[in-house]
Order: sequence, then C-alpha cells, then structure tokens
Amino acid sequence: MNKSQDWTIIGGGILGMTLAHRLARAGQHVTLFEAHEQLGGLARPSNVGPVTCDRYYHVILQSDTALRRLLHELGLDDKIQWATTRTGFFVDGQLHSMSNTLEFLRFPPLSLLSKLRLAATIYRASRIRDGRILEQVPVSDWLSKWSGKEVTRRIWLPLLRAKLGENWRDTSAAFIWASIARMYAARRTGAKKEMFGRLPGGYGQLLARFAEVLTSEGIAIHTNHQAVSIDRSLTAHFQNGQSHQGDHVVVTVPVAPELCRNLTADERERFFGLKYQGIVCVTLLLSKPLAGFYVTNIADEGLPFTAVIEMSELSSQNLVYLPKYLSADDALWAQTDEQIRQTFVQALGGMYPAFRPEHVQAATVVRDRHVMAIPTVGYSRRLPSVSTSIPGLHILNSAHILNGTANVNETVQLADRFVSGGRA
Ligand SMILES: Cc1cc2nc3c(=O)[nH]c(=O)nc-3n(C[C@H](O)[C@H](O)[C@H](O)COP(=O)(O)OP(=O)(O)OC[C@H]3O[C@@H](n4cnc5c(N)ncnc54)[C@H](O)[C@@H]3O)c2cc1C
Repeated sequence: MNKSQDWTIIGGGILGMTLAHRLARAGQHVTLFEAHEQLGGLARPSNVGPVTCDRYYHVILQSDTALRRLLHELGLDDKIQWATTRTGFFVDGQLHSMSNTLEFLRFPPLSLLSKLRLAATIYRASRIRDGRILEQVPVSDWLSKWSGKEVTRRIWLPLLRAKLGENWRDTSAAFIWASIARMYAARRTGAKKEMFGRLPGGYGQLLARFAEVLTSEGIAIHTNHQAVSIDRSLTAHFQNGQSHQGDHVVVTVPVAPELCRNLTADERERFFGLKYQGIVCVTLLLSKPLAGFYVTNIADEGLPFTAVIEMSELSSQNLVYLPKYLSADDALWAQTDEQIRQTFVQALGGMYPAFRPEHVQAATVVRDRHVMAIPTVGYSRRLPSVSTSIPGLHILNSAHILNGTANVNETVQLADRFVSGGRA
C-alpha cells in the first residue's frame, strides 16, 4: 500500500475500527461510518439501572495475542485485570461445579467411562491444529464417534441446541473444535485454571480510547450514518440523505448483500446462503450473587436461556447475563422485552433455590440478529471472497473468521490480515 487513497469503511464495530486504525497507519485516508450513535457494535456499553456495563459479557484471554497487541498500541494492555474463575454446569435440574479435574471426575451425571470419553474428545480436539479439516464432517457424527452415544445425547446435543437451535443439524465439527480450542486456551496456565481478563469499566474503556486514537490519526468518524446502498462508483449512500465517495469501500457488516445490489448473482447467492445466529440477552443487576461461577453451561432443555454469566466473579457488581442464541425464525424474536424478562427471571428461580425476583434491582434486554455465521458443513468452499466483482469494493465481516469462534481476537486478526495483504 504505497499510494495514499481514500477508504470508506462501513460499520464501526471492532472490525471497522481496527481496519481504520491499520489503514491510517499504512498512510491511507480513512472515513468510518457507523449506523448507531456510538461506536463498538456488539462490544459497546449499555446501562442496567445505574450501572454502565458491556452490552454483552466480554472477557480477554491471555492467548488473545492480536487483541493484546492492539491494546498495547492503545496503552491499555497493562490495565487488564486477570482473575481465575470457576465454571458451573447445570444438567438434570442440578448445578455442579466443573472447575478442575477432580470436580470433573466426580461429575455425577456421567459414568466413569462416559467421562473418559468426554475427556478424550476434548483432548482429541485440542490436538488438531487446523479445524478446517473437520469442515466436511457433521458435528453430531464427530461427537458420537469420539464421545459415544450417551455423552452426545446427555451433554453435547443440549449444549449444541442451546447455542445453535435446530441449526446444529447443519453445523460442521469445525464449530466444536473452535469452541474447545478457545476453552483450552483459557485454561492454558500452569494451574490449568481458567484465567480471564477484563479492563476496569469493561470494553467501554477500550472503545473510548480507541476512538481518541482514531481521531488523532486523522480518521473522520461519522456515527448516526446508516448505509443504505453502495453503488458501482463506490459511493456510499446513507439513510440521512448524505453520501460519500472513495477509492475503496470496505463493508464490515453482515447485511452487506442488501447494501451492495450490483454484486453478481453468484456473489449474492453465496452471501444470502450464510445462516446467522442472533441473540437476545437479559442483563440483571442483583442485590445478591447467585452461585459464584463465571459461566454456567446449561445442558437442560427446560431452561429458556443458553448459559448464566455472573460478573461478580470479575467485577464488584452482581451483574448476571442470561443470553439466548436464536435462529432467524425463532418465535422469541416476536416477544416484547418485558415478556422475555419475566420468563427468564422466573426460570432463574428454578435453577437457584435461594434466588428471589425481589433480588432484581434493574434489568435490561438487548438483542442482535447477526451475531455469528453458522459454520455449516463445507462452509469455506461456499464463502464469498473478500474482494468482490466490483473493483475497490471489499466485503469483510465476521463470516470470514474461518479457524476460530467469533471473538474480538479473531476480529482484530481479520483486519490485520486484510491490511497486510494476508501476511499478518
Ligand atoms: C453474547 C456475546 C458475548 C461475547 N463475548 C466475547 C468475549 O468474551 N470475548 C471476545 O473476544 N468476544 C466476544 N464476543 C464477540 C465480539 O463481540 C465480536 O466478535 C466483535 O465485537 C465483532 O465485531 P464486528 O465489528 O465484526 O461486528 P459488530 O460488533 O456487529 O459491528 C458491526 C457494526 O456495524 C454497524 N452497522 C450495521 N449495519 C450498518 C449500516 N448499514 N451502516 C453503518 N453501520 C452499520 C453496527 O451498528 C455495528 O456497530 C461476544 C459476542 C456476543 C454477542
């Protein structure tokens, strides 16, 4: 990238911000457009009563090297506070601690043989360096092969259904590989304990500092600018009637084919062929903590949420996130925030006998329809390329994460690779 050119970036999430930062450092002239009034996308803050917190729970792993390099550039890496956390597991109406090997060996719902097969599956996955070799294998086939029928039925399928709904049927084994690889990375300390990091104030601190740095790098940031179309002349048109032309446009949002109507039929088919999971998440501010597990995985299909995340493990507030991942056609999308809040709070009482609805001091419900592209069987063969048929128009978004889960570290790497021409 020698000659300085004009770059338009659509979407001010972590991907758009990192691209803007890298391009500006490479001497390019960058304008960043974000639909919302704030930058940050899935990582931006929200309010739960008097508390400002991450809209969705976010932690940093010690192995998040690309993210930590970025935090170092922003002067924030040494501000991360690290903590060991505990993990819970809710199955057959009972809550169990699953935070170390001894607890795993004691785990009552499974026989010793099943536990050994579960451990062997996790070990097997952790030995695979490139998960793309599992892309052709349906996830349930791979899990049944390594874990056996009992573990697959009692543990894996409820977990897969919780995260993917009925889309688990089309999902490849690369998905479970990526999830296990990230879980393994969290435990890669001498004590084999889970280590999570967090900035005081959460991602809000990162975003505020990032925005300052982008501005100091000469990047023009326009929030409240929702792109509605991008034409062949690389002019982006916005809902507020404004438009902007550049030499290049990078669209970082999942709804790219709706904006770029001049793509070829093949490109449109590939983009529209991607299936996304969305999310509804209830965040509660409680007067008392629940059970002291950072994550409680749920393999019990009677509960309306996917997991319980207790922030009291990492911060001084009793914030609890109750996420529910949803496919595009899930009936829950039609419910009001109040209906969802009531259902989730009621179900929490069934999990934690000491919990009372009066412990809820404040609640917020947030939702997003495009959180994660489902890694279906044969995914990367059907994925559209980043450079489109329109010269100068690039579409790069979370669907292009191929060998990992959708997380900030992978997102930063996407931007790094794009700007370095694949060398990062
Ligand atoms: C529940 C949950 C928990 C998570 N936990 C973690 C975690 O612990 N650790 C971790 O590393 N990662 C975590 N992640 C993942 C992380 O949040 C994402 O990987 C990352 O934020 C994705 O950034 P992005 O820029 O690709 O997408 P987004 O954040 O979706 O950003 C896209 C941006 O584009 C904007 N936009 C959309 N349409 C338009 C338009 N037409 N015009 C202009 N702008 C538009 C949106 O408003 C948004 O700001 C979590 C995600 C969720 C949902």
